[in-house]
Amino acid sequence: MKGFAMLKLNNVGWVEKEAPKAGPVDAIVRPLAISPCTSDIHTVWEGAIGERTDMILGHEAVGEVVEVGSLVKDFKPGDRVIVPAITPDWEAVESQMGFSQHSGGMLSGWKFSNYKDGTFAELFHVNQADGNLAILPDNIGIEEAVMLSDMVPTGLHGADNAEVAYGETVAVIGIGPVGLMAVAGANLRGAGRIFAVGSRQVCVDAAKFYGATDIVNYKDGSIAQQIKEATNGKGVDKVIIAGGDLETFEEAIDIIRPGGIISNINYLGSGDYFKVSRLGWGCGMGHIRIIGGLMPGGRKNMEYLSNLLKYKKLDVSPLLTHKFDGLDKIEPALMLMKDKPRDLIKPVVRI
Ligand code: NDP
Ligand code: ZN
Repeated sequence: MKGFAMLKLNNVGWVEKEAPKAGPVDAIVRPLAISPCTSDIHTVWEGAIGERTDMILGHEAVGEVVEVGSLVKDFKPGDRVIVPAITPDWEAVESQMGFSQHSGGMLSGWKFSNYKDGTFAELFHVNQADGNLAILPDNIGIEEAVMLSDMVPTGLHGADNAEVAYGETVAVIGIGPVGLMAVAGANLRGAGRIFAVGSRQVCVDAAKFYGATDIVNYKDGSIAQQIKEATNGKGVDKVIIAGGDLETFEEAIDIIRPGGIISNINYLGSGDYFKVSRLGWGCGMGHIRIIGGLMPGGRKNMEYLSNLLKYKKLDVSPLLTHKFDGLDKIEPALMLMKDKPRDLIKPVVRI
């Protein structure tokens, strides 16, 4: 079968590989829709997780099951399924501790395009099918459903980790597709005022659609200064970071109130350390929490989050700015993600 791969750092291309086989609890899936992620860009062009050779990229997909192992109970060939980007080993101790994202070690629940071949192929392998796949509801289109693999759970995880509560003021730094879903998550959890930080108009319009009340352009000067001015110096209850770099934490510390939470979902692709200002952190006594999280995968999350689309509580269609047909088109779609033209939020490829 063919797949679109990271050949080595800074290099991508098509590879020919043997089709994967299902172990007793696994499934083999043929993608129906896939989408490239900014994480693929960090992996290939920033070397964020180190060298990988001929590793098929991609971790966002909906597909059709073509084969299941002998012990799989709830899925069969022909089922249309949502495939989460994170597919944990559910028996791992980390999973039992509530951190299935790290089953087997730091970030080890993230298998596609990290530890094994990803979804940009004619076929791909899913571990622990009963625990990691979810049936695609009839009334959700494949293009929308592919946003359930990664964008929806990641953005909402940012809002969950920030413990956003009714009426709070939240700043979402970065409003690409992930940050937009964080805005939507903060809104669903009842935030009052939501600052959205970005520069591209297409993202600004979408942020307003998802519930942003104030827009801050980071290119107009310090984010912290702009938000402090708009809040009479008080800052915000919660910050969700979904864009920027290590320096973004310095801005976040400067706007968070005592007892606030900074929730990072940005994949930090390069650099070594970030600074936490001593005074901003209340001389170490400000009760300010900093948490960073990989999205939670697995079947239950996919089933519950798909209810948001099925029952029209969340509309992901504004994210889908670029649509392609055919597996071959994953290459231009990935390049869009790398180049981030001004009219792009998220590309999707139908197969
Ligand atoms: P995008 O590149 O589409 O969006 C990034 C956003 O950050 C844009 O709004 C951009 O503004 C803004 N931005 C860029 N530079 C700065 C800066 N210096 N200060 C403030 N804002 C800035 O990315 P995605 O939404 O696709 O992904 C966001 C991050 O989430 C990525 O790092 C991705 O790898 C990660 N990710 C994490 C996951 C997880 O499980 N935690 C899962 C999936 C993705 P503009 O372009 O408007 O100028
Ligand atoms: Zn991703």
